[in-house]
Amino acid sequence: MKNIIVIGGGPAGYPAALKAASLGAQVTLIEKNKLGGVCLNCGCIPSKSLLDAAHRFQTARGLVGLCQEGAQEAADRLFSLRDWNKIRARQQAASRKLVQGIGFLLKKAGVTVLEGEGSFVDETHVRVKTAEKEEVLSCDGVIIATGSEAFFPPPFDVLKGQIYDNSTIFNMEQLPESLAIIGGGVIGCEMADLMSALGVAVSVVEMQPRILPTEDETAARTLFQALSKRGVTFYTGVSAAKAEKTADGFKLTLSDGKEITAQAVLAAIGRSVNLSSLQLENIGVTYTRKGVQVNPKTLQLKNNIYAAGDVTGLLLLAHAATRQGEVAASNLCGFEMQYHNEQIPRAVYTSPEIAAVGLTRAQAQAQGLNVRAQKSFFLANGRAVAQEQTEGYVELISEESTGRLVGATLVGANAAELIHVMAVALNAQLTVSQLKEVVFAHPTFAESIAEAANR
Ligand SMILES: Cc1cc2nc3c(=O)[nH]c(=O)nc-3n(C[C@H](O)[C@H](O)[C@H](O)COP(=O)(O)OP(=O)(O)OC[C@H]3O[C@@H](n4cnc5c(N)ncnc54)[C@H](O)[C@@H]3O)c2cc1C
Repeated sequence: MKNIIVIGGGPAGYPAALKAASLGAQVTLIEKNKLGGVCLNCGCIPSKSLLDAAHRFQTARGLVGLCQEGAQEAADRLFSLRDWNKIRARQQAASRKLVQGIGFLLKKAGVTVLEGEGSFVDETHVRVKTAEKEEVLSCDGVIIATGSEAFFPPPFDVLKGQIYDNSTIFNMEQLPESLAIIGGGVIGCEMADLMSALGVAVSVVEMQPRILPTEDETAARTLFQALSKRGVTFYTGVSAAKAEKTADGFKLTLSDGKEITAQAVLAAIGRSVNLSSLQLENIGVTYTRKGVQVNPKTLQLKNNIYAAGDVTGLLLLAHAATRQGEVAASNLCGFEMQYHNEQIPRAVYTSPEIAAVGLTRAQAQAQGLNVRAQKSFFLANGRAVAQEQTEGYVELISEESTGRLVGATLVGANAAELIHVMAVALNAQLTVSQLKEVVFAHPTFAESIAEAANR
């Protein structure tokens, strides 16, 4: 039986431990903070719980307005800035419940969980520092799953602790009247949506020419327009060159000389891996802020050392981390398994939602593929019209010569759920003609996928 150590109990580490245990290994998982990592404690789950509350408030407001003209003002009084702590309490309860669930699963699988910090002595020995003692454990192999934390480069480093980052924002006890968000990536956009829906005056600074630079341009423009309409002010193509504390908040000076003032600032400018405490020099491994270099298919780092999750820098998403953890554990236990980064779906949980899998049209063209794009709009979808949720579309990208699907982007209601139809299609290497054979229930948003295939 193999004796395996997993360092880190987030979405990469705990599934790796469960997988290795299911394959017959004796597993020890070392976690220095809380099981569930960033995802459950200060990432995916907190942000989605709070966004759901904010979106439901907007829906309720719309319904009240439908029944009684002018009643939105009364609805606004229903949600005051004080209610922030109530929706936070719901979010904290959800996180607690899910973290407990992981503890239960690990116990049931016979995984030994140590609360402490792990570091390498050599390739087969790991030092564990707990509150009570320090010990060295020997093992046959290690999976590194220590994740990432908010990146704080200059000039924002001097304000660390005073301005929020994409973890500490969830500890905010009172909503500010105004918030300046530095970074228009996924987290920046989700936070802009959340805060503006709750009545905070939001501005977003993005140094790239557009928000969501890694997603489809039209999808990003749709979100830009929706958030702008709801009062979010965007500054794109400029960077925040200077950040200062003022008497009643903060002042940001942008690279074009403009100044923004806000009561609070959120720096959402990326992540940096948690590898400094691991003493990787003891196993001859180097790394950058973006991670260690693994074999992208097997997740092997060297010999019996594997890595999974944000530390690999392959795709900073929880479900990517989980699959990587399972692949790493499987390979370490001698059962060959491969990871496919290109098949991982991506979602932005804003209103409208954006979700994608595989290549965008621009990415396919950049790879030299001759592709066809087929699009259908929610404006022509029965359910979307019935529910007044007509903002959005489906775009399918396929190879011109074979019709094989290579990517899809969905924008609008339920996009983060609907994208899995396309994830299955891509995984099964379906062509557009094969997708056309599937019958979709009516009326559903999913019918727009069939509609796009028939274009
Ligand atoms: C605000 C926000 C929202 C997000 N929303 C989404 C989303 O909606 N969907 C999505 O897919 N992804 C989302 N993400 C990204 C997702 O949270 C991460 O990709 C995921 O948590 C990575 O998992 P991981 O296991 O690699 O690392 P982590 O979750 O960072 O877990 C690593 C764990 O290792 C522990 N650790 C570190 N060093 C040591 C050590 N030396 N010894 C012992 N333990 C150690 C840490 O305490 C931590 O618990 C979001 C991230 C943020 C910040």
